[in-house]
Amino acid sequence: MVEKSAPRKVEKLSAVKGMNDILPPESTRWEALEDTVRTLMRRYAYENIRTPMVEPTALFVRGLGEVTDIVEKEMYSFDDRLNGEALTLRPENTAGVVRAVVEHSLLYNGGKRLYYMGPMFRHERPQRGRYRQFHQIGAEALGFGGAEVDAELILMADALWKALGLTDVALQLNSLGQPAERLAHREALIAHFEHHINSLDDEAKRRLHLNPLRLLDSKHPPMQRVNECAPQLLNFLGEASRAHLNRVTSILDANGVTYTINPRLVRGMDYYNLTVFEFVTTRLGSQGTICAGGRYDYLTEQVGGKPAPAVGWAMGVERVLELLKEQGSQVEADPLDAYAIVPDAAALPVAMACLQELRALGVSVQMHAGGSDAMASIKSQFKRADGSGARFALIFGADELAQGVVTVKALRDGCGAQITQSLNQTTQWASSLQFSA
Ligand code: ATP
Ligand code: MG
Repeated sequence: MVEKSAPRKVEKLSAVKGMNDILPPESTRWEALEDTVRTLMRRYAYENIRTPMVEPTALFVRGLGEVTDIVEKEMYSFDDRLNGEALTLRPENTAGVVRAVVEHSLLYNGGKRLYYMGPMFRHERPQRGRYRQFHQIGAEALGFGGAEVDAELILMADALWKALGLTDVALQLNSLGQPAERLAHREALIAHFEHHINSLDDEAKRRLHLNPLRLLDSKHPPMQRVNECAPQLLNFLGEASRAHLNRVTSILDANGVTYTINPRLVRGMDYYNLTVFEFVTTRLGSQGTICAGGRYDYLTEQVGGKPAPAVGWAMGVERVLELLKEQGSQVEADPLDAYAIVPDAAALPVAMACLQELRALGVSVQMHAGGSDAMASIKSQFKRADGSGARFALIFGADELAQGVVTVKALRDGCGAQITQSLNQTTQWASSLQFSA
């Protein structure tokens, strides 16, 4: 016997803080952006890569650098309960792509141009434009050392802003030089900060000898004053590094892409060298960087591969969509072609066979579905059809079916005009549902 007890109130569960559901119709904006990106990537010959959301923790510690915000504070790391493996939800995807490229020897006969889209995870303080699960679209070109590929990636991002209709985006560029140049700069940097030791916050003091470059990336206001007069890496660059930067800028100039050189731009991960850049906007408050990237010629070795130069960028999908919204851009979902009205459930087998054929021909149809075996009144089905935004109603009434036809009624542009069409000849009339007014 089942024991009767008072119904227990079940606690409502909600999404994890800083992690968002993306619901319709908002998701239409996401799909539109993704469609634009896919078309663009094809035009630039970038191929899609999909890597796991979980990677060995060591990949990020080694790749991004131990003394970075991401590795020190922001990673979702855990031990696999079954085998104790140290794992991390990916906070970014450059390291994962490089791991996959090395693991599968994708560079065996030349360079590879790749792109990805997907969620990333960082334990940050949630606010506008900053979430704990957020999404990046990234492009990576591996096996290419020439400055023209740095420029190609920047031009591709610029073309994306144009395709999306984004304005108010400014490009900032810098060069981080090569390891030897960085070493000389490091000494000067440490000396500078030691001179201003009293203005340094605790984190800066701790990082001073471990990773002084990170201090330049600080968002702490007093630090920014000390950073303003810090020695600039640009002044430590040798001829080859300077020439690399000049090659990038001359291609940007020839393409009419404007930029400012920002000698203080250092980026948050250790893997960068030479070119680094960010696309920023002033319209999103302090979360103004919508896309960022640079060269990372030493990362393949860092994850155990053969040396291979590489360059890439990642954009924050939420921030790009927010900026589009801020600019008032509208995205309309494609209207539904037809709504199927089925007055009597007995007609469903025949009606649904017809709908299958129509959909196979490319017509979008929403079928009326009731709450139980009985279908709703024809009046309420028509109301749903009107509300769906469909251009036509298909009426599968008993009289129609007896004659082997369906009634097609124009809901929006045809002032209610209706004609009957043969159920046997969907191919002949399906196109009228999609193209005629
Ligand atoms: P920020 O300085 O804003 O923290 P970041 O330097 O940590 O950015 P990257 O690691 O370079 O960011 O990531 C590339 C892009 O991904 C950023 O420019 C931004 O648009 C987006 N992004 C990074 N972190 C988040 C986040 N927590 N929420 C939403 N978007 C993010
Ligand atoms: Mg960050």
